[in-house]
This record gives sequence, C-alpha cells and structure tokens, in this order.
Amino acid sequence: MTQTPDLPPKSYVVTAKPDLADMHFVHHTGCPVLPDTTLVPLGAFCGSVPAVEVAHRRFEAVQACALCCPDGREIADEAA
Ligand SMILES: [Zn+2]
Repeated sequence: MTQTPDLPPKSYVVTAKPDLADMHFVHHTGCPVLPDTTLVPLGAFCGSVPAVEVAHRRFEAVQACALCCPDGREIADEAA
C-alpha cells in the first residue's frame, strides 16, 4: 500500500468567458497563469478531476489548465 499524503483541498475556478476556441479553462486559485478575467468558483477539491467534472455541468467545452491541472486533462478530453 502506498501512503497518501494528507493533501489539503485546493479551491478551483473556471473561466466564465470562453477563450478564442470556445473553451472554458479550469484552474486552481494558486495557479501562476490564472487569467485576469471573471472566474466562477467550483469549490475545493484535492485534485483537478472532480473540479473539471463540476465545470462540465456548467459549460460544454471545458479544458483543464496544463500548468495547474495536468491530471484533469484526460477526463476533459473523454467527456467532450
Ligand atoms: Zn492554471
């Protein structure tokens, strides 16, 4: 069994306005490239996967930020 560190949940947000490719991006609030735009709070999660799922309920086209949410990118592609 691998020990799982007790990670504190991080707060995630999704961009309210889509980018040029009609994509809404999921970031956590500590992301270094957090855009200076309106952000919709998604809640606090221990990983980006559930955050992307919540974002998908609001927007059809959702992409996880490559920098702060690398583990959320696969699921976003799958649900597209
Ligand atoms: Zn990010």
